[in-house]
Amino acid sequence: MQIKTFIFNPIQVNTYVLYDPDSLDCAIIDAGCLGAEEENELAKFIDEKGLKVNYLLNTHLHLDHQFGNAFVTERYGVKPLAAEADEPLVRTVRHYAAAFGLNDDLVREQALGGYLKDGDVMRICGAECHIIATPGHTPGGVCFYFPKLKLLFTGDTLFAGGIGRADLPGGNYVTLIRSIQQGLLTLPDDTQIYCGHGPVSSIGDEKQMNPYL
Ligand SMILES: [Zn+2]
Repeated sequence: MQIKTFIFNPIQVNTYVLYDPDSLDCAIIDAGCLGAEEENELAKFIDEKGLKVNYLLNTHLHLDHQFGNAFVTERYGVKPLAAEADEPLVRTVRHYAAAFGLNDDLVREQALGGYLKDGDVMRICGAECHIIATPGHTPGGVCFYFPKLKLLFTGDTLFAGGIGRADLPGGNYVTLIRSIQQGLLTLPDDTQIYCGHGPVSSIGDEKQMNPYL
């Protein structure tokens, strides 16, 4: 499985395109593209490689992680999957965009196509992916864990050298720390982590060097 990273929208979210160069199966995690230029950049990559978008996944539904959902759904016919507890954030995305000083005319709501639940196992680009619920940054935050590939997509739960904010609506600091310690730090040290913002790290590095844990 290959991973292509885009950094989109003024909040600089990492949008990940996972794909299998042989089967051309593809999944998008946190489509953050905002506006035609970023939408075209994402589509150009997918279309030039001839990828089939099988899944559109959200680690959580803060605005910067869901800006591109409507575009991907319209263009590729896949609806986003996220945890049910974050679903109310779909309906407030334009409101929050305006509150952040962004052009809310660019923002469209996109309803979910289904829910991700803790313990779910999916097949993504031919690889097994486990859904790990990690509430705390939002009530419905999840991480995507590929045990055989030793890959973990953490959204805004865990960053290289940091953790997600817990002071936004629905956030809870104690819950966030418990999610990280019980759900993520128990994974093998050589698990690479791909975060919602910023660079790649590993579970082992974060255990040793993350000042918040
Ligand atoms: Zn967030």
